[in-house]
Amino acid sequence: MAATKGMDATQAGGTSAPDSDKAARSAPGRRGGPEAALEETALAVTPKPTKPAKAAKSAEAAKPLKSAKSAKAAKAAKPTKSAKAAKPTKPAKAAKPTKTAKSAEGGTAQPSLSAAVRAGLVLAAFDGLYPDADCALSERDPFGLLVATILSAQCTDQRVNAVSPRLLAAYPGPAQMAAAPSGAVEDIIRSCGFFRMKAKNIREASSAICERFGGEVPRALEELVTLPGVGRKTANCVMANAFGLPGLTVDTHLGRISRRLGLSSHDDPAKVEADLAVLIPRSRWSLFSHQGIAHGRALCRSQRPLCGRCPLAFCDWPGREARMRDQAAKGEVEGG
Ligand code: SF4
Repeated sequence: MAATKGMDATQAGGTSAPDSDKAARSAPGRRGGPEAALEETALAVTPKPTKPAKAAKSAEAAKPLKSAKSAKAAKAAKPTKSAKAAKPTKPAKAAKPTKTAKSAEGGTAQPSLSAAVRAGLVLAAFDGLYPDADCALSERDPFGLLVATILSAQCTDQRVNAVSPRLLAAYPGPAQMAAAPSGAVEDIIRSCGFFRMKAKNIREASSAICERFGGEVPRALEELVTLPGVGRKTANCVMANAFGLPGLTVDTHLGRISRRLGLSSHDDPAKVEADLAVLIPRSRWSLFSHQGIAHGRALCRSQRPLCGRCPLAFCDWPGREARMRDQAAKGEVEGG
């Protein structure tokens, strides 16, 4: 998918998000919640030093007091030991944010509340912004989409949509594609870039489908990723858009917006996928993937995101304020 176009080199802004997110959580001005509440409580319960007893007015009263009552009173006149010893209660350490990736990999822990709340806000906002987001590749049958997705690496969806019908018309199924001369496949897909490697992967994946899966594209992610040239992104794309199964297609756009919106702190797409799998309801995985990719293309671009036009006001990406000022100064002419 074109989602991969202009990828890594343009992700500088996105990768900075995790650090600043951690910084924001530990910044004095942002401290709150349990830590602040405990600090307030500690101040409220700190004992005050007892006031010294008033001096006796009469000479008789000025004598040292010997009675039990007097002794008690004299004791009370001194600052109590407990008052001296009592130190302000140390505020409890703030709970560390849940490491969602580890949680997902472990399969048991829940995401932190803040991440879960952010995920809910993102889902609601995306439903308003991109209600009809869909896969930009036109092929929909499993083999056609598999081939198109392999072609889409470092290539635009438009280019793939122009090339894949011709390739699939010549070699419509795995058996025909596996038997196709490599030069013939390369000639058809040349304009998609990396055409030798893509032709090799398409032909070898077709052979594997014939040899190991009876000529049918497998439906399970674990099986799809065993095919040459098929990673988790391609496998999830085929699962979601050809088989109608839940799939989180973490391309460069979805990875970037997940980091900027505080849904993941990872660069590794597999770890981002694991984070999202915990935060996003399974029934929403496919649509959320399309919505995230749409947002990454429309507003949350890799370079110079259009924060001034983005309605996701809860976004705390550290570059957001600067981008908003920059856009305001330029009269928001960027992006049309
Ligand atoms: S405000 Fe919007 S465009 Fe800007 S970084 Fe956040 S999500 Fe992206």
